[in-house]
Amino acid sequence: GVAALALLGPAPGAPCCPHGPALLFVKTSQGTEEGRRFYACSACRDRKDCNFFQWEDEKVSEARLAAREEYNRSQQPCFTHRQNVDRYKNFVLLPLSKRRFCQECQQLLLPAEWKKHSDHQFLCDITTAQLKSPSQLLYPLENKKTNAQYLFADRSCQFLLNLLTDLGFRRVLSVGTPRLHEMIQSKAAQEEEFNVRSLLLDIDFRYSQFYTEDEFCHYNMFNHHFFGEEAARETCRKFLCEENGERVIMVTDPPFGGLVEALASSFKKLMAMWRETEKEGHDNREMPMFWIFPYFFESRILDFFPSFSMMDYQVDYDNHALYKHGKTGRRQSPVRIFTNLTPSMIVLPEEEGYRFCTVCQRYVSSGNQHCEICNSCTSKDGRRWKHCVLCKRCVKPSWFHCDSCKCCTLQKHSCEKTDSGCFVCGKAGHKRSACPSLSRS
Ligand code: SAH
Ligand code: ZN
Ligand code: ZN
Ligand code: ZN
Ligand code: ZN
Repeated sequence: GVAALALLGPAPGAPCCPHGPALLFVKTSQGTEEGRRFYACSACRDRKDCNFFQWEDEKVSEARLAAREEYNRSQQPCFTHRQNVDRYKNFVLLPLSKRRFCQECQQLLLPAEWKKHSDHQFLCDITTAQLKSPSQLLYPLENKKTNAQYLFADRSCQFLLNLLTDLGFRRVLSVGTPRLHEMIQSKAAQEEEFNVRSLLLDIDFRYSQFYTEDEFCHYNMFNHHFFGEEAARETCRKFLCEENGERVIMVTDPPFGGLVEALASSFKKLMAMWRETEKEGHDNREMPMFWIFPYFFESRILDFFPSFSMMDYQVDYDNHALYKHGKTGRRQSPVRIFTNLTPSMIVLPEEEGYRFCTVCQRYVSSGNQHCEICNSCTSKDGRRWKHCVLCKRCVKPSWFHCDSCKCCTLQKHSCEKTDSGCFVCGKAGHKRSACPSLSRS
């Protein structure tokens, strides 16, 4: 049968790896849980990046615990955030000719350190503009399974920023969205009347070289772990206080590695943090949120956040070779915005073909036809979908109704009984690690 890993979630008293508390998993077979439960790293899906492993019922000796703590400490970055902030202050005082960035160590260098990096590749004459756009200076981390960084195309980043300022938000909790954070910071520095603030929460510690403790927290969104412990948590809590009526929205664009339940659990904790800042309890409202994620995760996200809906807007990336905007004639992006805001408030650009459906009360993509039978604009991928009377729903244009399977499916398929589906997309025939919906390029 198809074996898969099921996440049992963050567990109280879980052991720690360098990425904070580990998550509890169990191996499943044929959709049923069986076998021993174990802890593994929350952030890294690839054993090469973090090989932490412990059986749930395993007895760990004092000596091993001590060794583990020692190891965890040794894995922490060589400079603290505080030190990096001081280094930055010194760096900007240097004349252009002395401003170097080591590409191998991904680090701003002070002149006294040049020698140590003498056989490394480095960039010279680092300008203030470059320091203000670290997402351009740093190379995107490319580990496919763990920490692939896909940066917003300017068009999409601009759209998101305009959208949330038009909606009246003045504070953005940027969780794994360094480029949005950067755009907000630059605009705030350049335009006096632009009064939006952003706090970046990200596991990529390289960003601590460019932002103060009030602008960046080293954070793991799979286990809600603040690496800076209490101080960083407090920074986040303070940021979420809506002083002077400055409304907060959280924007997140997590890696698509599966673990939706882990993300949802962390986001609920961030929402709770926001709720607790208000004594009157926000009238049972939820913290407004944009969760940027592929459309095929819709049902998983809605399982955890029933108040969310998926917008048709296609989010584009710079370093996705394939998923560029539809109008350029390439493949279309599968990435969408999920939000708990009222869909009719999310105005999508008409110049890109989006139009308002008065029945659905939301903007839809140009190819998304309102189906009279479903009474909804049913397309998920932007193409026009067709209604199947037997399935009683709309399906992809390329599908046909198979009489032996009694459902709509691809023309090319085998009518055999299929195993339990992939953990990510629910389709049969592959495991999560090989899910085609996860390979973005
Ligand atoms: N489109 C966004 C970047 C999304 S890529 C932008 O342009 O701003 C995913 C981001 O999530 C990266 O910045 C990556 O460093 C961060 N990330 C990956 N794993 C994480 C984790 N476990 N906790 C917090 N952030 C993480
Ligand atoms: Zn170096
Ligand atoms: Zn409609
Ligand atoms: Zn239909
Ligand atoms: Zn059908």
